[in-house]
Amino acid sequence: MSHDEQLQQYLLPNYGRYDLWPVRGEGAQVWDRDGKRYLDFAGGVSVCPLGHCHPAVVEAISEQAKTLMHVSNWYCIDKQAELAQVLCDEVAAIRGKSFFCNSGAEANEGLLKLARRYGVQVRDVKKPRIITFSHSFHGRTLGAMFATSQEKIWGGFGLTPEELGYIHLPFNDFETLAHTLESQPDVVAILVEPIQGESGVNAVTPEFLRAAQDLCRKHRALLLLDEVQCSFGRAGEMAGWRTIVPGDEILPDGISWAKAIGSGFPLGAFWVRDTIVGNGEKPVHLCDLLGPGSHGTTYGGSPLACAAGLATIKVILEENLCQHAKDLGESIATEARAWNHSLLGEIRQFGLFIGFSLNSAALAPLADGKAPSIFLARKLLDAGLMTVPAGPDVIRWLPPLNITLQDADEALRILRLVLDGLVSHSAPATGD
Ligand code: PLP
Repeated sequence: MSHDEQLQQYLLPNYGRYDLWPVRGEGAQVWDRDGKRYLDFAGGVSVCPLGHCHPAVVEAISEQAKTLMHVSNWYCIDKQAELAQVLCDEVAAIRGKSFFCNSGAEANEGLLKLARRYGVQVRDVKKPRIITFSHSFHGRTLGAMFATSQEKIWGGFGLTPEELGYIHLPFNDFETLAHTLESQPDVVAILVEPIQGESGVNAVTPEFLRAAQDLCRKHRALLLLDEVQCSFGRAGEMAGWRTIVPGDEILPDGISWAKAIGSGFPLGAFWVRDTIVGNGEKPVHLCDLLGPGSHGTTYGGSPLACAAGLATIKVILEENLCQHAKDLGESIATEARAWNHSLLGEIRQFGLFIGFSLNSAALAPLADGKAPSIFLARKLLDAGLMTVPAGPDVIRWLPPLNITLQDADEALRILRLVLDGLVSHSAPATGD
């Protein structure tokens, strides 16, 4: 049986996959089973900050695999403790504690449980509610999926966000947030992505983030940040929200991480600020609220996963990849904006987190019923460039943070060529 036949027969049909079979990767390049080379500006959807098979990560994983791959969280794991300190000191840069899991959805589940536990035990709320925002994406587990505001993600599963305690509000709308917190005393937290990736690289405004923090403090709601896609240098800072509000002005109560943290090795984490939240006589530290028995995982934070995480963050820091991402991202955006291309709209760029919004009206007639972003991503793939659609009208670039100027030039050249080809294809025939 061929691999194609195996895939058809044995895998669930939940992905609309491209017919591309990558078999090898190195840095920003990937080769398929026919030997065709691609420039990977999708990066496993923001998962490979150092590109494919970075020697430092390969070595860390190989060494750890030879030493100790897994032990239960019943025991103490040295690499986990080390990584927790690095996350606290170098990424959050705020005092707090972490829990390790395997994915972004699980990291968000942890934050959602933290919020509910805080509501019940500290605020004495019977049915806690959590606010999330339009166009958000928080993952595919039951909790994270209903926290996600897009109906295409949660629809058809026989529950509603309201039943699970979520309130979805418009993104960046301070008035509505203020009004809702005023009128709904059962709200115990808000969960927000500083830069929304899945729906088109849309950032929270600094004003909104500041105001949301003030409102959270006023109403004793937790400020939770979903940093699964935008952290670890992707947007130019280790902490994604510092791209929006630099410095220490924003003090999140909880943060979720995954994707880039393990360079492709499954690893996620959530972090909780060390802050006192109780009203009673005994101080309650938020970061100690999930005590023994309240949460857990078999695989999360294994020695192997944490070795991958430690190696990844070390390289990002030592090679100053945050600054590199800022510089290169800006030069890519500047060049692409200068084209004034008829098929491109606004280009939203935060480090190497870049969204090219498309002139969908012009692309739609060519797209054969597909979303313009999916159509263009396919064309780019045929031309040797892997990218990711972000909603129907945006193409996302999430290349390794250590790409070279040549990689960036090659990607821009392919994008330009494909766009120009589409323009000439769509231009009405001129008769004489
Ligand atoms: N949160 C955000 C912001 C994401 O972008 C994603 C994945 O795209 C998730 C959560 C879910 O992460 P995972 O697919 O690892 O569960």
